[in-house]
Amino acid sequence: MQSDQFDEPRWLPVLDRWVQKLGMTRALLLLCGTVWLLAVGMSQLAITLMGQGNRTIATVSSSVCALSITSVFGYVFLRLVVHLEQARKSMLRHATQDALTGTFNRRYFLEQVGREWARARRYDTACALLLIDVDHFKRVNDSFGHLCGDTVLRQIADVSGETLRQADVLARFGGEEFIVFLPHTDPLGALDVAERIRERVEALNLSWNGKSVPLSISVGVAALGIEHQTLDQLIHDADEALYAAKASGRNCVRAGAGLLPGRSSVFSG
Ligand code: GH3
Ligand code: MG
Ligand code: MG
Repeated sequence: MQSDQFDEPRWLPVLDRWVQKLGMTRALLLLCGTVWLLAVGMSQLAITLMGQGNRTIATVSSSVCALSITSVFGYVFLRLVVHLEQARKSMLRHATQDALTGTFNRRYFLEQVGREWARARRYDTACALLLIDVDHFKRVNDSFGHLCGDTVLRQIADVSGETLRQADVLARFGGEEFIVFLPHTDPLGALDVAERIRERVEALNLSWNGKSVPLSISVGVAALGIEHQTLDQLIHDADEALYAAKASGRNCVRAGAGLLPGRSSVFSG
């Protein structure tokens, strides 16, 4: 995640972590103690530099001022830090994640993967893309209701996420469509991941109001080739493969043209 996206101060998360670790009371005590030491030290230094003044009065007055002011304003400041950090995290979540499934959203995917894709092209490393579409999802909504449909989307997102590696990027691309970017993955590897996700979705045993919900997905796979000048072209190839999967009867994985020479249909459910 690019934290500089929102131009937030870098000290904010650091200070928040520090407050979370210590707890509000101890953080405030530490802050008060530090300010008190500084205030007393500075009052004594001022007396030394000026060569006059009562050290006891200076110590007592600087202590009273430092402790009373810091305990009130320090508390307000630390609470503000915690609230600001919560707001920053929530804003970041809303800007990058899909609220229903918790996967990344389309905008973030295109931004993030746009960068990774450009790197893969420049350094000539393998990468691949999966487009996942729920089969007959309208029927699920019509037969079991939208709440069930939403649960299906969340479960498919969970299953897909569990199947992927840390570096892979999963996003909700549209209504019932997910997209996955697989860095450092060759065509066979991508087909393998796609098939594993398909199998795991097929094996999901969702029942709704006592009735079993039929669930399957179709997956289109495309891998980076020299013909792909833009990320859009790669997505377009994955989309064509997805279309082929639908045309083949759904619940299957299809590869884009040219992914594996002589093999346009690789897996079927
Ligand atoms: P196909 O196998 O060809 O993909 O058929 P399909 O029914 O899955 O595709 P279609 O495009 O006809 O229908 C997609 C449905 O997905 C229609 C829309 O109401 C539903 N949908 C889109 N977003 C959501 C959502 O967030 N929640 C729910 N419950 N349904 C959604
Ligand atoms: Mg669709
Ligand atoms: Mg669909």
